[in-house]
Amino acid sequence: MDSPGAMRCPLCNEVVTSVATRPFCSDRCRSADLGRWLDGSYRIAGDPVDPAVELDREVFPDCAASSDGAKESTCD
Ligand SMILES: [Zn+2]
Repeated sequence: MDSPGAMRCPLCNEVVTSVATRPFCSDRCRSADLGRWLDGSYRIAGDPVDPAVELDREVFPDCAASSDGAKESTCD
């Protein structure tokens, strides 16, 4: 049923079928996840990182390190 490489919603574990809502399965889950971040209850504790995020960091290492604002110009 599921393809091995299918992206799954980090919130409800449903297979993500819409590119528009990635990495979540729906706007509902995306909004819920945002709410969890804002609420401060969301913790990264060894959970599998979204493969798309990992890929971005490898392709744009300068952007990943730009949280200090020093290299913003390279991330355009
Ligand atoms: Zn979901």
